Amino acid sequence: MKPKQAGKCRDALMIAGVVVMLLGYLYKTFLIAGLCVAASCLLPHFLFYRCPHCGKLLGRNEERFCQHCGESIEE
Ligand SMILES: [Zn+2]
Repeated sequence: MKPKQAGKCRDALMIAGVVVMLLGYLYKTFLIAGLCVAASCLLPHFLFYRCPHCGKLLGRNEERFCQHCGESIEE
């Protein structure tokens, strides 16, 4: 998975998690399910949101270049 895809995946899971958590006001089960979904957004973040050149975590870097080695994140 490319860093860009991982970033999108993370954002989508986060948004989905928040939406499901809001449904938790109606049913408590949704609150827990939403928490699980939102927490799972950390997985693609830490596993795949890395620089393809030096392999370091990009963290909150949304730029097109790695803050560690300066190489382009997009191949
Ligand atoms: Zn790098």
